[in-house]
Amino acid sequence: MLAEIKGINEECGVFGIWGHERAAELTYYGLHSMQHRGQEGAGIVVNDGMELKAHKGLGLVNDVFKHANFSDLTGNVAVGHVRYSTQGGKGVENVQPLLFRSQTGSMALAHNGNLMNEQKLRGELEDEGSILQTSSDTEVLAHLIRRNGMETNEESISSALNKVVGAYAYLILKEDKMFAALDPSGIRPLSIGKLGDAYVVASETCAFDQIGATFIREVLPGELVTISDKGIESTRFAMREQRRMCAMEYVYLSRPDSDLNEVNVHASRKRMGMELAKESPAEADMVIGVPDSSISAAIGFAEESGLPYEMGIIKNRYVGRTFIQPSQELREQGVKLKLAPVRGIVEGKRIVMIDDSIVRGTTSRRIVQMLKEAGAKEVHVRIASPSIQNPCYYGIDMSTRKELIAANNSVDEICEIIGAESVSYLSIDGLEKAIIKDKTLHQGICAACMTGNYPVKESGQTEISYTRC
Ligand code: AMP
Repeated sequence: MLAEIKGINEECGVFGIWGHERAAELTYYGLHSMQHRGQEGAGIVVNDGMELKAHKGLGLVNDVFKHANFSDLTGNVAVGHVRYSTQGGKGVENVQPLLFRSQTGSMALAHNGNLMNEQKLRGELEDEGSILQTSSDTEVLAHLIRRNGMETNEESISSALNKVVGAYAYLILKEDKMFAALDPSGIRPLSIGKLGDAYVVASETCAFDQIGATFIREVLPGELVTISDKGIESTRFAMREQRRMCAMEYVYLSRPDSDLNEVNVHASRKRMGMELAKESPAEADMVIGVPDSSISAAIGFAEESGLPYEMGIIKNRYVGRTFIQPSQELREQGVKLKLAPVRGIVEGKRIVMIDDSIVRGTTSRRIVQMLKEAGAKEVHVRIASPSIQNPCYYGIDMSTRKELIAANNSVDEICEIIGAESVSYLSIDGLEKAIIKDKTLHQGICAACMTGNYPVKESGQTEISYTRC
């Protein structure tokens, strides 16, 4: 089953705006602020009230819209998407929003997340005569919505959403309405904001700040929000469950200036560092963080431990994320291109090196090696999240089990592999303390990649099987 899921894993960002004369341009800026969520492709579908028009392509937001003429993308409504897929399906046909046209009108879909029963649903649709053009699970939802010639409305969307299993944040656009939907466990983030009279929906609140919009509220788990010229309406397609926001959004994926479930990402990372310092202190001269995602946790560790925070590693900001490299060899090269030690700072020193997470172990191993080559006397690796031992089925590129270093090695073995003096991870308790303000129904995280406790399973499934990893 994993193989099915691996092919369609996506860490993406969605953005939508209703009721602003510069809709496409603001969507461009919104997507730009969420570029970290996907660098493979980007697209905007604009709605002038009569017709939906798409502009999309492979590459960064800037590249895709370099030659776009925004005066051609007129309309008060737009949805946009940045895409990152892990394997296969990298063609331009999979770049979102997907746009479908039919006799009764058009529909555009933008999706962040992953459907676990995509293959099954695809098979059923094909048996019924549907011909799908992409390998994207987003197209499956589109076919489910329009099944039996149904119109795109709250009823058909709710019925389609009740057939899919997984983690998802959807934006769906038709000529007279925009819909936003979140999975019943609220695993992926999705917020609503306002800019003057216009409504804005985005994966991360940093997109609101970018365009000067104000946060109103989160889309709730199992909620379908309808935005139109009449304003905003809400229905439920599923019973609200305990919120299980993806822990990796806080640990690594989201921007530090974003608030997820009303918890600021930087502040939560700082608390992760503080908890880590309490749990696993180290005798050292300084604390350094792996830029950029570990800086907040390193600051927290330094503050709590009383050790000075130093800039021991610098980042070449013109190199993309290392995960984007498809092969291990390129990934290793990527780390070296991206990060460099500051010799004058680390030479002869005992260092606490904070990273937000270890997945395959490539980054930590290369950095410890670099620091030692630059003369560091000792390197104590402290990881600001629990060890990742299980694949993610909900949209984070978390590799197969056999690639996850912590799934196959003890902490002592990892320490030896990466060549550090010591290695410690944050505990699950520490992670929860750092993220969850108060344990109500509204709060809660999915940490399945760390605990193996998967909140969403296909029906009848008691265990998630790893047999095809
Ligand atoms: P690795 O080198 O495979 O151990 O990956 C760990 C590094 O990748 C850490 O420094 C994280 O900042 C980053 N990272 C963690 N999870 C992800 C992810 N799902 N996608 C991309 N990068 C990640």
